[in-house]
Amino acid sequence: MMQLIPLLFLPFSAFAADAGNPGDPGLAPNTMPAVSPEFDFDNVVEKGLREHLPLTSSTFKVWDNGMIPQDCKHHVESYGYRATDFEVVEVTYADCEKPWIMCRLKGSKTDNTRMAETFGRMPIGMRELVKHVMIMEFDKMKPAAAYSVADIIAISDEFYMHHIFTHELSHSLDSHIEVPGVTPPNSGGFSSTKAWKDMFDEDTAAISEYGRSGWPENLADSGVVALFDIVVPGGAGTINPNWTSCFHQYANYKTAYGHVVTPGVKLNCTKRVDDSPIVQAGDGKSNGNTTDEGGDSSDSDGNKGGCHNGTHARVGIPTRRISRPRPLAGIKAVHSGIFHNVTFVHRVQ
Ligand SMILES: [Zn+2]
Repeated sequence: MMQLIPLLFLPFSAFAADAGNPGDPGLAPNTMPAVSPEFDFDNVVEKGLREHLPLTSSTFKVWDNGMIPQDCKHHVESYGYRATDFEVVEVTYADCEKPWIMCRLKGSKTDNTRMAETFGRMPIGMRELVKHVMIMEFDKMKPAAAYSVADIIAISDEFYMHHIFTHELSHSLDSHIEVPGVTPPNSGGFSSTKAWKDMFDEDTAAISEYGRSGWPENLADSGVVALFDIVVPGGAGTINPNWTSCFHQYANYKTAYGHVVTPGVKLNCTKRVDDSPIVQAGDGKSNGNTTDEGGDSSDSDGNKGGCHNGTHARVGIPTRRISRPRPLAGIKAVHSGIFHNVTFVHRVQ
């Protein structure tokens, strides 16, 4: 069977700086071994999430106007694709008036329905922190299975899975969601706090081998187990006999984010991040603007596409068929996430 084994962590430097404070367990959560046996993310955890996360109904329409989100265009071009190799799909979910514009490589085995439904099983409190979803080939992205940067999620066709989304969207929570009394007001960064590390120290094993590679990864993999524990009857204890050795990590996540990720608690989007500007897919010219990301540092070091360099001009939507989503009353725009994360894998027979 295919096994997911992340290999490398790319820390966001500004937040890594906090990791060496006195009393901290070190630069990485590697003072303890991973729980043994490890959680079977690819099979057992994935099955539980797929079967028990409630599906939010959705409708989608494929754009035929030659336009694409600027962030999609720049990311896919950075991998050697043409933007016109991608189908641009507008997905509207029942719990948010504002649709998500997704960019799917034509010919992907993940079809539009599965693309919409898998993302649609993610709790709205996680989903609303994502600008766009992209699907590319693992052959191009490898060894990355997925990455998350500036609220853009790119997932390889081969790893378009619920637990991968849960991991990446946990980075989004870590980037955006305030933990009262722990992170600064209206700010994320929980994984970099002493409160997270202190709870880690209550355990005798790390949540996963990959969760030993850095604090954000420790939180993100804890999020996968936490969401499983929330939605699957019997919880994490039913799939790992040594769950108590890493219990505090995923319990801490549940305490901090349970009100955001528990199905039925948060029902609608309230702070959906803004989309990137919509640009023409086919001409290769620089379009759009970057006003919604001005001053944000999350994509400054790891964005291989250089999406935010250069001078851009505003471009409108030259079609009547597709209207760009407008800000909604009561929807608070939030800045891009603070972390740049790549989840690397290799395959084991
Ligand atoms: Zn990660």
